[in-house]
Amino acid sequence: MPKQRITILGSTGSIGTNTLDVVARHPERFEVYALTGAKQVDLMLRQCALFRPAVVVMQNLDAARSLKEKLLAEGLAIEVRSGTLALDEVASSPMVDTVMAAIVGAAGLGPCLAAARAGKRLLLANKEALVVGAEVFMEAVRSGGATLLPIDSEHSAIFQSLPDNPETWDDRVEKIILTASGGPFRTLGLDLLKNVSPEQACAHPNWVMGQKISVDSATMMNKALEVIEASYLFGLPPERIEVVIHPQSVIHSMVQYRDKSVVAQLGTPDMRVPIAYGLSWPERIDSGAKALDFSDMSDLTFESLDDHEHEHRFAGLKLAWEALRGPNGATVVLNASNEIAVTAFLERRIRFDQIHTVNSNCLVGVPPHIPKCLEDLLEIDTQARAVASELVQKIEK
Ligand code: NAD
Ligand code: MG
Repeated sequence: MPKQRITILGSTGSIGTNTLDVVARHPERFEVYALTGAKQVDLMLRQCALFRPAVVVMQNLDAARSLKEKLLAEGLAIEVRSGTLALDEVASSPMVDTVMAAIVGAAGLGPCLAAARAGKRLLLANKEALVVGAEVFMEAVRSGGATLLPIDSEHSAIFQSLPDNPETWDDRVEKIILTASGGPFRTLGLDLLKNVSPEQACAHPNWVMGQKISVDSATMMNKALEVIEASYLFGLPPERIEVVIHPQSVIHSMVQYRDKSVVAQLGTPDMRVPIAYGLSWPERIDSGAKALDFSDMSDLTFESLDDHEHEHRFAGLKLAWEALRGPNGATVVLNASNEIAVTAFLERRIRFDQIHTVNSNCLVGVPPHIPKCLEDLLEIDTQARAVASELVQKIEK
């Protein structure tokens, strides 16, 4: 069997390094064509020495220069490039079969579209790309003949719980139920929520992840983005998507069928499981994850989000349904606003609870309009970022 040639967009991040861990377990199956990162030169140098890609793309120009020098000093003949065009090229090159999309934020949309249009097997961790790309993204997948496989653990769980034939989903499935751990502040007093620090917000109880998704998990905006992601991926309207809190993160999500039968996917909270599934689908390979130990699992608990305290604590979650019921452009606005607000919180410019203030005001502050192409989406994204930045500045004063 010929080896699957892979580009990993965002290889220096949490999903990127987990992907390389799975790839390293199966040298007979996979070969790395390209790695990309923003500015972590030393980690990229180590990845280059281990995986010997043909091309590396560093978003930051200084990082690209420094990496080039270090590779030369180590005698490693690897092409180093920079810029968005280079990202699009390594995502769509004829030398590549599979693209792991693990850049964080809307910055990953361009190369995702390039991979989709080139008909690649596209492993999607970068949920923001789909939230922003919406129908334009899904249309690129269809017209390019790409195979889109979800890597987000919830969406991988749903994909594993659905029938093989997507044409049957609408008819057979009543609803999909996304599980949410509730993050680090699930039981914190509401009055204390205001003053939590970025360090506390990034300390997730079950998963080790990048900073942005960790803050999103604490506000539940991660689940809001996942509701939108699920709606686009599985073609279901917002009223057929539900969220339930499940603090142990053992059930990764569920599908409820018309006859009320519920199919769930379970496993230890380890992203290598959905990554290995995406890489090997429809086969199964070793992921390196530990098996669940049912003898040690006395508690699997669930909490409703209609609970009065949770409604306040996780107010951002409702914005997903609001955005999905508006024109497509509303999900772009919500994502852009959240990226600006999370960065401002991480820079200690706004408080934790003010992330929601910015997002909810931005959603009503940007006039709705329906995007028809990528340019329209990017224009809404720019407009929403400007409005959100103004809202942050107003809070700072
Ligand atoms: P991370 O911050 O750890 O890594 C992000 C990667 O993207 C890094 O390699 C970084 O160098 C690169 N990058 C950042 N900004 C960039 C830019 N402007 N241009 C090019 N490259 C850039 O993030 P992560 O936790 O690995 O998450 C990546 C994506 O996967 C996110 O969309 C996240 O929501 C999703 N996801 C992550 C997890 C998880 O467990 N970490 C789970 C599900 C989904
Ligand atoms: Mg998830």
